Amino acid sequence: MTKPHVVILGAGFGGLTTARAMSKDFRVTLIDRHNFQTFLPLLYQVSTAGLAADHVAYPVRGALRKTDVQFRMGVPQSLDASANQLTLEDGAVIDFDHLVVALGSTTSDFGIPGVMENARGMKSVAEALAIRSEVMRAYEAMCVPGNVDTFDIAIVGGGPTGVEMAGAFAELIRGPLNSDYSAAAQRIKVSIIEAGPRLVPSFSESLSRRTQADLEKLGVKVLTDTAVKEVLADSIVTTTGNAIAANTTVWAAGVKGVSAMETLNLPIARGRIDTQLSLQVVGHDNIWAVGDIAGVANAEGYLLPMVAPVAMQQGRFVAKQIAALASGKAVENFVYKDKGSMATIGRHKAIVEVKGIKISGAVAWLAWLWLHLFYILGGRNKIGTMADWTWNYLTFDRGNRHIMDSM
Ligand SMILES: Cc1cc2nc3c(=O)[nH]c(=O)nc-3n(C[C@H](O)[C@H](O)[C@H](O)COP(=O)(O)OP(=O)(O)OC[C@H]3O[C@@H](n4cnc5c(N)ncnc54)[C@H](O)[C@@H]3O)c2cc1C
Repeated sequence: MTKPHVVILGAGFGGLTTARAMSKDFRVTLIDRHNFQTFLPLLYQVSTAGLAADHVAYPVRGALRKTDVQFRMGVPQSLDASANQLTLEDGAVIDFDHLVVALGSTTSDFGIPGVMENARGMKSVAEALAIRSEVMRAYEAMCVPGNVDTFDIAIVGGGPTGVEMAGAFAELIRGPLNSDYSAAAQRIKVSIIEAGPRLVPSFSESLSRRTQADLEKLGVKVLTDTAVKEVLADSIVTTTGNAIAANTTVWAAGVKGVSAMETLNLPIARGRIDTQLSLQVVGHDNIWAVGDIAGVANAEGYLLPMVAPVAMQQGRFVAKQIAALASGKAVENFVYKDKGSMATIGRHKAIVEVKGIKISGAVAWLAWLWLHLFYILGGRNKIGTMADWTWNYLTFDRGNRHIMDSM
């Protein structure tokens, strides 16, 4: 008997986990526009010259080597849900018994003018490299004798990504850029802008205060209760009418499900695919959503956070539910097991909160390093990351300052 065919869209944290979990019992096809998985949690280190770009990208085929999963590059163009058929942009028509949508999220501008035109997103290796190039190019220009320009980097969004980015930029400027040409480095400023009253609002207040203090120690200007009205090419206008200098604006303020979900014509609610607790898409018993794109609410009605553990737990869960259905059993409801949150601010500076236990400083920083190293895919990437981190730690340098987006 032929095994049911499961097609998975997206080879990120959710899709790859789903594929590996079901490869024994099903015929699985995994589709992604890239032939690599991006380790998004360390992307900010690529844009701030701490890590080489290829350390955060892992070949999908390498990740599937010991499985029977078929991989193909592709982008979905349309879905005929009643015929169980998916069409890709290259014209291929793929039949499926089950479809798992794990296409992740994209930058959301919340309708704020200028974000898409003037701010840089942080969702791909290409975007991370573009940020690095922009900052390094400005620095090189400022190193030209006689140049007295200033350069302002503004990070919008005080969540973990924004905080990590601000801290890493501050360390890059105070460390290697300052060592190379301090007169230029001293004219680069970093600010972080948060609409709410405190940074990292998903952490407790004491860790928020610690985060702000750590960033300020590194020279970052922290602006809370500051909502963005418009992003211009060289500044940000706040809702109170103030202008904040911003030659580079990094938008770490929000994400929504990728626009491909509209192409698939699946029901959308609150910016994500409308998904039941079983992770079946509303109105479809054989179409599932996992990860950032899945609009699943918790018991309090809040959508689950867009983090890697949610995507991976949902991937394993969906694999079990499809197996249950195949053997005539009923599906269950997904329950997220929150194992805590962490964010790093800089050398020996991090925050960790696990089930009410709060840790900050060097111990939290070591825990953060270890956990990220554990989850990066592939021995080569682990060793490369460890090598870059060790070098950065021992020499206070950053070896990945190249401007590689031209010539
Ligand atoms: C900068 C940054 C930092 C983060 N830091 C952390 C962190 O520290 N800890 C944490 O837990 N989470 C973090 N996250 C969130 C975490 O990375 C996401 O929650 C997780 O990646 C979601 O997994 P996913 O499978 O839903 O999507 P993804 O991992 O994003 O995978 C989606 C896949 O779909 C593919 N795809 C998208 N559109 C198309 C298309 N049209 N056609 C074909 N393929 C497509 C993409 O190429 C990608 O491979 C961070 C996210 C970002 C952006």
